[in-house]
Amino acid sequence: MTGPAATRFPHRHLLGIEGLTAGEISLVLDLADGYVEHNRKPVVKESLLHGRTVMNLFFENSTRTRTSFELAGKRLGADVINMSVDASSVKKGETLIDTAATLNAMHVDALVVRHSESGAVKLLSDKVNCSVINAGDGNHEHPTQALLDALAIRRRLGRLEGLIVAICGDILHSRVARSNIHLLNAMGARVRVVGPPTLVPSAIERLGCEVHHTMLSGLKDADVVMMLRLQNERMSGQYVPSTREYFYFYGLEYEKLEVAKPDAVIMHPGPMNRGVEIDSEVADDLKRSMILDQVELGVAVRMAVLDILTRDRRGAN
Ligand code: ASP
Repeated sequence: MTGPAATRFPHRHLLGIEGLTAGEISLVLDLADGYVEHNRKPVVKESLLHGRTVMNLFFENSTRTRTSFELAGKRLGADVINMSVDASSVKKGETLIDTAATLNAMHVDALVVRHSESGAVKLLSDKVNCSVINAGDGNHEHPTQALLDALAIRRRLGRLEGLIVAICGDILHSRVARSNIHLLNAMGARVRVVGPPTLVPSAIERLGCEVHHTMLSGLKDADVVMMLRLQNERMSGQYVPSTREYFYFYGLEYEKLEVAKPDAVIMHPGPMNRGVEIDSEVADDLKRSMILDQVELGVAVRMAVLDILTRDRRGAN
């Protein structure tokens, strides 16, 4: 049993899922549940973060994460600034530490950071007074993605505990996989990773998951099938013979899904490469695919995270 939700979140930053307790995860998910309902109302603007500033600092591309943090901040009434790294002094060679010191001097309340290097967000968080949220660092962690995935599963299947979740594809380069493995383990789910040996890190079992190299064994009786993109931008060299062959063995299509539970749901963090890791028909299957629910719930989860991390400075704890 994972127990009740925690009553408070004792961390200043959200740098990863590793190290969070089941109670702390439930606290975020329960609050996010309320924000989902709130976001479906005709008027969604709140004043909880009125007068507060949230800064988005993305050193890597993003569609969903950046825009949903922006929406989340605005819906809570904060001023949200998107700092464009392309146009900033980072391009002129300013170090991450200098950038951190500069932003710190501006007294923002929360900094949302994405960076291509694992550990860069933690480094930055050590140099600032505000809360830092990791929006994805290299192949390390992407905590808000795992939280929104968990919320989507919990809302659809009613629980996380005891479920079989198959995470399939490029595990090696995926921060989404790592954060999900930590979260699902903490919440008592059974995690499998499925992929070719070249894309599954050795000793990943130590994080608490089973390793499968065929979709047939990996998807057997699964309740949730989570597909991942081939992270070409993090690959140096050839990890799969061709995308066509990759799809043949590891691409999700109905035939492979037959071994999963009849009501198994399909997830993908996006962006999708249709015809590479997932067949279009499966991705667009309204009954089974939760891909757009994930996007919707992402805003609510990010509202919950901004709310929780700013409580101390708002005197709300
Ligand atoms: N959007 C996710 C990430 O930033 C997954 C992906 O890019 O494939 O890690």
